[in-house]
Amino acid sequence: MTDEELMKEAISLAEHCKPIADRIPKVGAVIAVDGIIVGKGQRGTGESRDDDHAEKVALKGVVDRKQLPRATVYTTLEPCTPEVRSEPLDCCTELIRQAEVKRVFIGILDPNQGVRGKGLWELQSRGIEVELFPPELAKKIRVLNDKFIRVQQTLGIRITNVQPGQTIRTCDKGGVFEFEGTFLNPPGDDVFALTNIGGQWWPQPYPLRLTANDTWSVKVHFGGSGPHTVCIVRANELGAGLIRYYRKIGALNRKARDLVKEVIRGSGLEDEEAFLRSLGSVYPGIEMGKLPKGIELLDQVNILVENPPK
Ligand SMILES: [Zn+2]
Repeated sequence: MTDEELMKEAISLAEHCKPIADRIPKVGAVIAVDGIIVGKGQRGTGESRDDDHAEKVALKGVVDRKQLPRATVYTTLEPCTPEVRSEPLDCCTELIRQAEVKRVFIGILDPNQGVRGKGLWELQSRGIEVELFPPELAKKIRVLNDKFIRVQQTLGIRITNVQPGQTIRTCDKGGVFEFEGTFLNPPGDDVFALTNIGGQWWPQPYPLRLTANDTWSVKVHFGGSGPHTVCIVRANELGAGLIRYYRKIGALNRKARDLVKEVIRGSGLEDEEAFLRSLGSVYPGIEMGKLPKGIELLDQVNILVENPPK
């Protein structure tokens, strides 16, 4: 069989995959020596036991392993890397390296942000020849995996520890409440929390923190009680610049306020608190009817902040 026929064979295996969820790709892999197929595999459905990767299944199926150094792997999806596997040595790039195959044909790069090119890089750096499927076959694979690709390109951020309309208490925690949630793809440092009251926005000073494989948390500060909307957003360069600038101004205001406090302490001023209030808020909200173009809303929840006890 020719290279192209073997690639088509791998695609036909991918077409027969029946994943149970959109996050599972449809992948087929064929191993051939001198144009003769010696191993075949397809990605499992995503139900635990059945969940082996196509390349791993195909490698396992090779009876005469001595042939492998002369073999070519045709896989519809870029082989995975240690970063995305719970057992790093079980990743396909590592298995291919151990098998010492000569050449790998890759259909499409893995849209998973943890892989995307790293598999190709890893194979090449191990001295394995890497080639890509021709464009029309790659297009077929993209169409076949359109749902998987879409899932991989979104962060899939959800707030999960608070229900819409829920009342939260912050007065015993210094005005801070910790929001938690899940994600499909790990958020980077361009993901922030903002609070909003009727068109006034407050970017939060703390970044989202990853707490486990698929969960995050973020501390949100509330300056007062009543209804608030808490938003998790992804900012582009412009949006991130706005948020960083806001944080800087807040920090400067805070420093200035502390200095003022020290100066007026014991100065004989009658009502220090009223004087400080008259200077305005340290963290003035940004007035925006809606989020600007540089800031993309990922998830939001409306909550009520409990009144502090009198
Ligand atoms: Zn894999």
